[in-house]
Amino acid sequence: MRGFYRKNNLWLPEILKANGYKTIGIDWLGRWHRMGFDHYWKGSCKKDQPTRLLANFIEALPHKYVDIAKRLCEQFGLLKYIQTAASVTKEAVEAINGTNEPFFLFVHYWDTHTPYYAPGGILRKLFLCNRTECLEEMFESIKNEKWKSYLVNCFPGAKNVVDIQAIYDEAVKYVDGAVGRLLDCLRAAGKLDNTLVIVTADHGESLGEHGIYFDHHGLYDSTIRVPLIMSGGGFNKSARISGFVQHIDLAPTVMQMLGVSCDKTHFDGVSFLPLLNGRANGTRSFVVAEEMYTEEKYAIRTGEWKYIYSPSEDRATCRYCGFIHGGVEELYNLADDPAEECNVMDRHHQIARELKAELLSFYNNLIKRGKVRERGMISGKVRRLKAAGLI
Ligand SMILES: [Zn+2]
Repeated sequence: MRGFYRKNNLWLPEILKANGYKTIGIDWLGRWHRMGFDHYWKGSCKKDQPTRLLANFIEALPHKYVDIAKRLCEQFGLLKYIQTAASVTKEAVEAINGTNEPFFLFVHYWDTHTPYYAPGGILRKLFLCNRTECLEEMFESIKNEKWKSYLVNCFPGAKNVVDIQAIYDEAVKYVDGAVGRLLDCLRAAGKLDNTLVIVTADHGESLGEHGIYFDHHGLYDSTIRVPLIMSGGGFNKSARISGFVQHIDLAPTVMQMLGVSCDKTHFDGVSFLPLLNGRANGTRSFVVAEEMYTEEKYAIRTGEWKYIYSPSEDRATCRYCGFIHGGVEELYNLADDPAEECNVMDRHHQIARELKAELLSFYNNLIKRGKVRERGMISGKVRRLKAAGLI
């Protein structure tokens, strides 16, 4: 898979490893995600037979019983066989306490991913596990039966969106507690002051907005606007900083903070350290997002506006839900309508045209700089962008 994703690009763990950091990943995705790590922990390690059997058994259970099985594993000390925030944290704590050299630790929590693992909600799920009729009614708009039945099975006992939002909130709280334990561990080990801690997410979650139920497809803020919390690294004062950054900016920022140098052409992102230091220079005036999996859409977001574009009705149709979320072309005034509920394409043609031109220019610059072609990151990307009329 390495060759598929890149030929010449470097990964952050590889760069840090080459600069004397011990690199540890606690995750279960494997494949290319393990690149550059000295140690990569997987909850279902293939070498360990009981681990594999138990993990396979839990994965094969109907969704409604997965949480219960995980809870039982926690109760009976079988944590290492499953992946919950508790088991991930346990591994991370061992890694922190077992390392005396500079380290890069990547800790990946999954509990806020459907079906949402929230230990506090177990009893409710257990006793109400056959009441799914209301959910079917709620998911009526979803045309794809397979996706609908997946959702229904994920949330037995829930009667409406609010019930599931409550489970999601519990999952967030559960992960929040786990992050707190990690910080406690760093503090107890005397490493907190000298450690840069970054908490972020690769995506948000739609909890019913735009007819997207409990998933992260769509380019609305519920999905693309994620937390970014940083501590350590010389920041002594708490501050909430406004400004646009994207995930691709994280690696150059971390490297600049650590004084690690690397050829900048390896990165699409730019360091936002000046922004953290109170200088607006380098702040992006917009962010760009795209998706290709469930539907093909491209978005550009400024402080005031979001424009979302799809090349055709066919490609705008969500293959999970079986209908078009929002529209083929969408424009939202975020100042008046932060929930992106009112598509104002018809009223603001000129603004939509300008934003589309900006989006087009963004992709053209990528092509000009050889980024898309050179990386070969996604096979056929250039062809798709051309077909979409964006380059
Ligand atoms: Zn959908």
